[in-house]
Amino acid sequence: MAKDYYGILGVSREASDDEIKRAYRKLARQYHPDVNPDAAAQEKFKDINAAYEVLSDDRKRQIVDLGGDPLAPGGGGGGPGGPGEAGPFVGFQDIMDAFFGGAAGGGGRGPRPRTRPGSDAILRLELDLPETAFGVEAPITVDTAVLCTTCSGAGTAAGTHPETCEACGGRGEVQSVQRTFLGQVVSARPCTACQGHGTTIPNPCPTCAGDGRVRTRRSLTVKIPAGVEDGMRIRLAQQGEVGPGGGTAGDLYVEIHERPHDVFSRKGDDLHCRVAVPMTTAALGTRLTIKTLDSEEPVDVKAGTQPGSMLRLRARGVPHLRGTGRGDLFVHLDVRTPTKLDADQEQMLREFAQTRGEEVAELTKQGGFFSRMRDAFNGHA
Ligand SMILES: [Zn+2]
Ligand SMILES: [Zn+2]
Repeated sequence: MAKDYYGILGVSREASDDEIKRAYRKLARQYHPDVNPDAAAQEKFKDINAAYEVLSDDRKRQIVDLGGDPLAPGGGGGGPGGPGEAGPFVGFQDIMDAFFGGAAGGGGRGPRPRTRPGSDAILRLELDLPETAFGVEAPITVDTAVLCTTCSGAGTAAGTHPETCEACGGRGEVQSVQRTFLGQVVSARPCTACQGHGTTIPNPCPTCAGDGRVRTRRSLTVKIPAGVEDGMRIRLAQQGEVGPGGGTAGDLYVEIHERPHDVFSRKGDDLHCRVAVPMTTAALGTRLTIKTLDSEEPVDVKAGTQPGSMLRLRARGVPHLRGTGRGDLFVHLDVRTPTKLDADQEQMLREFAQTRGEEVAELTKQGGFFSRMRDAFNGHA
């Protein structure tokens, strides 16, 4: 008589893979020996695992649906350990999933490996605009952890080895049993004698004190591509800290900080600058030479240029980071009115104004300015 695998998991014969997985997780949590150590529960746990092994495997599930038992001796089962062996095999991952809701790994059970990946590091790099615009090879120094060359990361003194932790017997965790109204609850916590590693290092490496890495200051050159912007990060793979026990180094991120430029302000890949143009020049027009980031460009200021005018120099901005081309340079023209005139200059300007029919109020005459203002507003000017 074949076992009722569907019944054990409490699912219908039409149950989907997801329903089977959910039912298994729920029951495995309930009957796991760590939670429920009594003998009947352990038998039940084995049945649950067997049912899951069968029903999560399309081929074995088919045998069940045809009335067979893939786990019975000669029942067409097989699998790791051979058929009929005590306790069906269920992937470790499935048990981990049942307890940690998927994605097993960090914080799991059992000894923690001594060798772990290193942390990422971040370094701030200040650059001037020409450097972010056209790229640069910047020397950097970074305080970091590197592999201990004395022990090559093992953390042990020459000729010695880690030893199994006596406190936890190498399991990396210690269990405690508590009686609660739900029954006995077994809980496990990391062993403090070995920090959960399951081993201790009685003779640590004298150079790194057992950490497998040493702190040092390292110099390297980072290639900054043209067109980077303030706040961007450049990733240097495995240039971060070496991990404990000589684990794979993390990444180093170089964060770009662009110093403000005296002349140009940057918006994306466009640059803006301001050029002062005397009122007379704005009126008469001229040719200016604009020093861009990397060239000198002749620029025509048309006669009659108004305050707030802007000239656009195409492709004189910052090169685009990806692809070709550059941003533009916008030259804002600040038309300047003279602030101090000597007597002759003032006289000339008055005459100039007269020739254009632009009457000028004289502030020196009491009330003159205000009365003319009134006239202007009343349309009598
Ligand atoms: Zn221990
Ligand atoms: Zn060492």
